[in-house]
Amino acid sequence: MLENIKGLGPKTIKILERLNIYSLEDLYTYYPYRFDILEKSNLKLAKDGDKVILDGIVQSEPMVLFIRKKLNKMSFRLDVGFNILSITIFNRAFFKNNLHIGTKVTIIGKYHQKQSSVVASEIRLGLLPAIPKIEPVYRVTNGIRSNQLHKIILSSLEYLDSINEYVPSFLAERYHLQDKKTSILEIHQPRSRNSLKNALNYLKYEELFLFMLKMNYLKKNRILEVGIPREISKKQVNEFLSTLPFSLTQDQEKCVDQILKDMNSSNVMKRLIQGDVGSGKTIVAMIALYINYLSGYQGAFMAPTEILAEQHFANAQKLFQNTDIKISLMTGKLKKKERTELLKRLAYKEIDILIGTHSLFSEDVYYDSLGLVITDEQHRFGVNQRTKLKEKGFSTDILYLSATPIPRTYAISLYGDMDISSIHTKPNGRKEIITELYQNKDIKKVLERVHQEIRNHHQAYVIATQIEESEETEVENVAALKQKFERALGKICKIGMLHGKMTAEEKDQVMLAFEKNEIQILISTTVIEVGIDVPNATVMVIFDSYRFGLSQLHQLRGRVGRGDSQSYCILLSDREAERLKVMTETTDGFKISEEDFRLRGSGDLFGTRQSGDMHFALADIKKDFSILLRAKEDSLEVLESKEYIDGKYPLLQQVIETSMKLS
Ligand code: ADP
Ligand code: MG
Repeated sequence: MLENIKGLGPKTIKILERLNIYSLEDLYTYYPYRFDILEKSNLKLAKDGDKVILDGIVQSEPMVLFIRKKLNKMSFRLDVGFNILSITIFNRAFFKNNLHIGTKVTIIGKYHQKQSSVVASEIRLGLLPAIPKIEPVYRVTNGIRSNQLHKIILSSLEYLDSINEYVPSFLAERYHLQDKKTSILEIHQPRSRNSLKNALNYLKYEELFLFMLKMNYLKKNRILEVGIPREISKKQVNEFLSTLPFSLTQDQEKCVDQILKDMNSSNVMKRLIQGDVGSGKTIVAMIALYINYLSGYQGAFMAPTEILAEQHFANAQKLFQNTDIKISLMTGKLKKKERTELLKRLAYKEIDILIGTHSLFSEDVYYDSLGLVITDEQHRFGVNQRTKLKEKGFSTDILYLSATPIPRTYAISLYGDMDISSIHTKPNGRKEIITELYQNKDIKKVLERVHQEIRNHHQAYVIATQIEESEETEVENVAALKQKFERALGKICKIGMLHGKMTAEEKDQVMLAFEKNEIQILISTTVIEVGIDVPNATVMVIFDSYRFGLSQLHQLRGRVGRGDSQSYCILLSDREAERLKVMTETTDGFKISEEDFRLRGSGDLFGTRQSGDMHFALADIKKDFSILLRAKEDSLEVLESKEYIDGKYPLLQQVIETSMKLS
């Protein structure tokens, strides 16, 4: 119990709960997401823009400038031994009284070679320790800082006696893993790079082992599960296809064949279709719904947002206009009476296809005969929803759509419990998006390109990583860009803004205005990432592109090029041009993803982990892919072992059971 920890009051416990920490185990398994190494940088080797760690003696009384509310700037000179640097730090006016001529300090910040200056992000009293110190950094929430959480975690370690060791001992021996207790103690207070590495080896392996264990379990069980055997012929499907205004691409055709085979078989279907945005997954999904309808069942099509659900609904109405299929849309906008009415029709099978968000599976929703569930952008929902469906009494077929193409070798492991279809080529007639890479100083050219598209009555997306000005003064932000674009183009068009601090309602409003072309330029953070479809948008500008993974850039870029006109993607970055160049060379999502895996694969131990589609506490599926592969083999070995079947691994059985309940 958290209450037992010395000095932990109810207020802090509330905050911890927001981080999903409820128990002692939650606390000591709340792992750092990053490690900072306090080690003096060699300034002589440092390049312009590098992050540096320095210590020295303050040489001048600090000066503070109050720029505006919530923004102040302090500067002083620092003697670092062989050189004197000028130091600037934002929003630390309160620290001024600690700093005087002669004070010894440590500085972490960004080096500007030409000016012999450092813009500091952190300042501490005292010089650096003689031996490099490794500091864990934790993800936190409002009301608690990383170092405070660190203290709490450290005091929880005193209670660490019996600990759940999930990795069977024969596997720990196989890989010479140290024990878990040592690993946990070490990860929260690393003594050296090497000992931290050993700790990570155990903990990452454990995490991936448990993940693959559940995955393998699901897969084994699915094969045993009896689904709906249908008897639909290819001819019946073709009759429907002939009503479409186009013919399917080869890849789409193959997907349809695989789906038809799955659905006709007596096993349940669990298939993932992955392909780039615009590769034509939706139509394949609609065909699956058609097959399902022909065999006498209801279908549910679940989208990650209401806007997308509405788009799919409009799409389905058009596609099925010459059939008797009855389609309904369930959104949060329905009045209570309308919703009751809809639910009644659903239960009486007066609805064949229901489209909506995850509310399609709320407590009070009953289907008469649900035969197929489609989830769009599966990674937004979590991997396994079967249990929920089973509770409703159905052995439904499931089809997942994902616009995050992953090379087959990786996909097979990550989505271990699904079958996978990939759509590689886009429908003909689409123009390839032209991608250009610019430096920040070329902003004029960028504005010209946007201007040109606006003049041609098209629309533009502009992406920044920050919402407003912050200490990272060199990174563009939405608020500042809005002003810049207003100044340059405000006379000829309307400019809107979208970011995560807005309410869902505000966001919807802006998106709707953009869809209706009431706004021509949308300046946004990456909140627009998921499946929005505005074919009239033909240019996407991404500031500070180096901050994104290639696959993420590719996702963002997929927002344009959805109409008939030539579209452009403009990447701005003063760094990592080599890596970003790939984006200008190919628009094949599978290739880009492959490159992303390759680049991250050799990443160093101490870098910040990128948050991808799959969230692990410690492991990074890209960097740690080889561990994942081992874990996959090993967990299968365990599941199939006599010991497991004889109940010799009660802990693992418990893990599986709990996860089946939760998912
Ligand atoms: P995705 O769901 O993969 O993002 P969509 O299914 O929305 O892609 O398809 C994008 C666009 O391409 C839609 O307007 C769709 O009507 C069209 N389309 C799909 N398949 C074909 C095809 N075989 N030939 C021509 N156009 C197609
Ligand atoms: Mg789609």
